[in-house]
Amino acid sequence: MKPTLLKIPFEFGGIEDSIYPVVIEDEASGARILVDAAYTGFLEKLETALREAGVAPESITHLLITHQDHDHMGAAADFKEKYPQVTIVAGADEADYIDGSQKNLRLAQAEAFQAHLPEAQKSFGEAFIAVLKAVKPVQVDRRVTEGETLFGWTVLETPGHTPGHISLYDAKMHAVITGDAFALESGVPVIANPQFTLNLEMAEKSMARLVALEAETYYCYHGGIWSAQ
Ligand SMILES: [Zn+2]
Repeated sequence: MKPTLLKIPFEFGGIEDSIYPVVIEDEASGARILVDAAYTGFLEKLETALREAGVAPESITHLLITHQDHDHMGAAADFKEKYPQVTIVAGADEADYIDGSQKNLRLAQAEAFQAHLPEAQKSFGEAFIAVLKAVKPVQVDRRVTEGETLFGWTVLETPGHTPGHISLYDAKMHAVITGDAFALESGVPVIANPQFTLNLEMAEKSMARLVALEAETYYCYHGGIWSAQ
């Protein structure tokens, strides 16, 4: 069964944008896996997007978090609190940042940048740090690694954007869920926020690896659907 693409529109600083979480369904087991959980405070928006796509939030069995960024795990703790049946899944190398046992790397990066920001950007930097500090950690119930299968989907470790970033591949459906291994800009794959990418060389390799799969459908969290064919 094809994954369901959700669209969550929002406005930030006068700019309209959307993020695209995905729901995977496994008919055999009845599992419904939500991939990525939107920004902090977005629980209602996420629930609305699910319902509009015909998916009852109560029916979600798993929440897979591709990586620790606030736009992917921001509403995860609230979702788990409201729907405690959900099993939280993340990459083994990313889980400690998601459950809060290690300091969030984006926050550490923003704090390190702050001292070097030009005066005019300091208040923006401080606001961003406050946003990152507001992210609630969430317990990871299942840690996955390269090659593991999750309801027919293969876990691909795609580090670079963050060290433990994961993507998903379904060889039968010829589909990839990229997370932020790449994003779309004007319909073209690009490195997501290269200036904040923790390891650009690794990120380029990860993106190249996914593109080389020549999948029929790529589900990009930033940008929506792309096809290599
Ligand atoms: Zn993102």
